[in-house]
Amino acid sequence: MNTNPNPYIDDDLKALADTVRRFAEDRVKPGFLERDQTRVLDRDLMREMGELGFIGPELPEAFGGLGLGCLAAGVIHEEISRVDLNLAYINLLASLNGQILAEHGDPEVVGPWIRKIIAGEALCSIALTEPRGGSDAANLRLRIERQGDQYVVNGEKTSISAADQADIAVVFGRTGTPESGAHGVTALLVPMDTPGLTTNRFECHGQRAIGRGSIFFENVQIPLNHRLGDENKGFVQVMQGFDYSRSLIGLKCLAVARAALDETWAYITQRQAFGQPLSAFQGVTHPLAQFDTEVEGARLLCLQGLWLKDKGLPHSAEAGMAKWWGPKLAYDVIHQCLLSFGHGGYDRGPMEQRLRDVLGYQIGDGTAQIMKTVIARTRAGRKNVPV
Ligand SMILES: Cc1cc2nc3c(=O)[nH]c(=O)nc-3n(C[C@H](O)[C@H](O)[C@H](O)COP(=O)(O)OP(=O)(O)OC[C@H]3O[C@@H](n4cnc5c(N)ncnc54)[C@H](O)[C@@H]3O)c2cc1C
Repeated sequence: MNTNPNPYIDDDLKALADTVRRFAEDRVKPGFLERDQTRVLDRDLMREMGELGFIGPELPEAFGGLGLGCLAAGVIHEEISRVDLNLAYINLLASLNGQILAEHGDPEVVGPWIRKIIAGEALCSIALTEPRGGSDAANLRLRIERQGDQYVVNGEKTSISAADQADIAVVFGRTGTPESGAHGVTALLVPMDTPGLTTNRFECHGQRAIGRGSIFFENVQIPLNHRLGDENKGFVQVMQGFDYSRSLIGLKCLAVARAALDETWAYITQRQAFGQPLSAFQGVTHPLAQFDTEVEGARLLCLQGLWLKDKGLPHSAEAGMAKWWGPKLAYDVIHQCLLSFGHGGYDRGPMEQRLRDVLGYQIGDGTAQIMKTVIARTRAGRKNVPV
């Protein structure tokens, strides 16, 4: 990865990638399998990443960020994901939520939290999905009522990544009438230790170090100055940040696919069958060659989305493409790689864990169908693609 010249990765980004890669190999890779068992994101590693400037480097310098571009964040995401997709969720949450907090929050309230996120001292979840469903994202039931100088929150969020590990969450709920749709949604910054808030954790197929669960709100009181964006406009304003995380998710998953491919190319030159290395058989090499082609192309698409964002240009379509294609392609690639290792790939180890970890990204942050609707809207116009 990052070995081929490409128009998006200049010498500075290449040097950054090399630095992160050394850290990832030395510090992150050794605990990858173990964290699937312990089921926690390693806070010491999180702090180390923070100290090294690897978390939210694109966030404003006024909040402790390095003011680097989104491509720089993407390069870091790739290098951490390549050895541990789950640990790199820390980087993803920081980039997505840090941007939301910085753009839409009261600096007095969000400032200290953003600094902690960048330093690797705080984790911020994002809570949109409800038991009723996630694709119809504006159809929220969680109730946010204004009472005097605070909001009172009641209801449930579900399928929230790192729900039981987060220190704060960006929470979306309904302040408007039940019929108000996207125009009656407000976003709040919610400290997870607020009285009345509880969480649980699901049994998950993959991403076990991150974990997923519900967040229950029972008369949870949040000060008015914790609102993100305007009242009733949270959906329209704050959701724009998702275009960013979609490109990053594609890139993260493809980094895992690249790692799987690299290991598989090496393996098939060593493993013998019928008196020859496996690489002598086109039935083994051609599927890998095809996936190698597709991974290179899909990665460029993800980088293009980040480049467009850095330039302040529209990138919703590219982000939608990256989000549906990257995770699906990565899953198919890792599946093929696992099969190329024979029974050894199926044993408990990196290949099978990669396959489990990457699968959830085909659902989380929006499914392929929803992404294709996003793309269709940019092409055919929103009014012609109502859902
Ligand atoms: C690993 C993982 C992590 C997650 N992390 C978070 C998180 O941190 N925060 C959060 O808020 N949520 C999170 N989610 C929830 C995720 O965003 C939702 O699961 C997702 O948006 C889909 O919602 P749903 O599961 O309710 O499926 P539904 O909305 O019930 O959809 C079910 C199926 O129908 C399809 N479908 C629905 N509507 C249409 C349509 N109009 N056209 C075509 N097909 C359609 C969907 O594509 C899907 O295949 C996570 C999910 C996973 C699996």
